[in-house]
Amino acid sequence: MARKLIAANWKMNGSLGNNAALAQRIVDGAASLACEVLLCVPYPYLGQVGGLLAGSRVALGAQDLSEHDAGAYTGEVSAAMLKDVGCSHVVVGHSERRKYHGESDALVLAKVHRAQAAALVPIVCVGESREQREAGDTERVVLGQIEAVFGGLDDAAARRLVLAYEPVWAIGTGLAATPEMAQAVHASIRGALVARLGDEAGAVAILYGGSVNADNAAALFAMPDIDGALVGGASLDAEAFISICVAGSGR
Ligand code: PEP
Repeated sequence: MARKLIAANWKMNGSLGNNAALAQRIVDGAASLACEVLLCVPYPYLGQVGGLLAGSRVALGAQDLSEHDAGAYTGEVSAAMLKDVGCSHVVVGHSERRKYHGESDALVLAKVHRAQAAALVPIVCVGESREQREAGDTERVVLGQIEAVFGGLDDAAARRLVLAYEPVWAIGTGLAATPEMAQAVHASIRGALVARLGDEAGAVAILYGGSVNADNAAALFAMPDIDGALVGGASLDAEAFISICVAGSGR
């Protein structure tokens, strides 16, 4: 069975002093664990945190990237720059980007293309709003967001990404999906992957995100189609994040 991937999304949090202490504690705590660990940190701190992670088994990621290649795009950060400073992964289409920056499915696909062209692994976020869930629309919305990306990728590219199911109502609210609710959506996603990739569907990890914490992680990870987690708030607390990683290591 593939190792679980536990990815931290620090969002717009951090400072030089806090990052150094947090990253060092995570490096130490993750040293002997049997899961993949990734820290997705704000742009200005990629160099700092990348330096702290060097030689460790914790990988570096970013939270967004430009859909453009290079040039006159003030304020943007390219895939090549992220690769240059040591990133292996980049979050794409987080619901906060979709909501506050109007990111469309088409833009998400453009960013996936850029990431993959620079040999970064995109972590593509999908998820329904509370209203959509209450209207019974969860599967249609989530599979539609995935199809919007997969429709623009060949099979080789479709195998080279990570999906994160993040119900919008669970992000930052303390109200995680129950393991059964999450598993039901993950199973639908897996079904879509099998339809697209056949025997190779297992190559695509499906993370759960939305109020994962030290107390609920193990039950979520016990579900057959949950391959790891994207962790926001709890990733800012070294002890909580390491506990989630321990759960992801099957301990
Ligand atoms: C996220 O932002 O991707 C996330 C899952 O946040 P939280 O864990 O705080 O709900």
